[in-house]
Amino acid sequence: MFEKVIIDLTDNFAHEGEAIEFCTEYKPTENLLPYPNAELSNVSVRLTATFTKPNVLLQGTLSCYIRGFCDRCLAEISRQTDLSFNQIFYKDVADDEDGYVYSGSKLDATKAICDEIVLSLPIAFLCKEDCKGLCPKCGTNLNDGQCDCDVSRENAFAALKNLKF
Ligand SMILES: [Zn+2]
Ligand SMILES: [Zn+2]
Repeated sequence: MFEKVIIDLTDNFAHEGEAIEFCTEYKPTENLLPYPNAELSNVSVRLTATFTKPNVLLQGTLSCYIRGFCDRCLAEISRQTDLSFNQIFYKDVADDEDGYVYSGSKLDATKAICDEIVLSLPIAFLCKEDCKGLCPKCGTNLNDGQCDCDVSRENAFAALKNLKF
């Protein structure tokens, strides 16, 4: 388990145009997730690195293992989410300011991988897409059945729909 994802490009430089496999387990030092009650336990990185002189192309999959509790009903969840990863690393200078760069024979993909995780995961961590959550009055898990509280749920949801973010 590593706190950085660093790829040694020596083999790539010797085999221009060849997709060379790279696999590692990555453990982020800080919790990247936007979820209040969940954390990333680790990320399996399975990539190929291709040297397309002078740049390097990384392609593959990031498997994120997330453990925590549903944002709505607090059910315990342990889940693997696969994200595809496809990124060019420019030699020394990026084409634009958002581009990623490498120099020398070591490529540090940590930031690019963190960015991909932050941007690609869904905004909410839910046990299921249509999780009904807990009753705000009595705390009944509404996935298991209705309670008798009168909380005019329809109105609350209609108001939410009209909110502009
Ligand atoms: Zn839930
Ligand atoms: Zn209730």
